[in-house]
Amino acid sequence: MVDQMLIRLGRWLRLVGNDVANPGGADDPELMVWAKQENRILLTRDRHLYESCKTAGVECILIKCTSLIGQLKEMAMEGVNMVLNPQRCTICNGALREVAKTVANGAGCQPSTWKCEGCGKLYWTGSHWRRIEDTLNKVRSEKG
Ligand SMILES: [Zn+2]
Repeated sequence: MVDQMLIRLGRWLRLVGNDVANPGGADDPELMVWAKQENRILLTRDRHLYESCKTAGVECILIKCTSLIGQLKEMAMEGVNMVLNPQRCTICNGALREVAKTVANGAGCQPSTWKCEGCGKLYWTGSHWRRIEDTLNKVRSEKG
């Protein structure tokens, strides 16, 4: 689960196959209760919230970087596998269902396509995929 400041990081964590809950309008105490109920790890850049989690026994990771790449590296160091793995909708966290596989046909190459079972958004392996891979490569290569 991400807090309000880390929604963008949450979207990236979904791209690499994680179930990430958005905070919605929940305040800090509500986030802590929610994380505990659903056994989620809370990600925050707020040291005060982090300390509260420690006291309350809620699993929490304090993110230090402000840049997305830096934040992804921190998550890589926490053991998150930085490999593109579409399982969850980046918008609503709904489960993705594969509706088409990459096939080469006479007309060229049809990309793999996934559909979100929550909001219906379609995902496919288009040109933006390359940019996502590039970013993840950067995270992996600069790690450690
Ligand atoms: Zn969705």
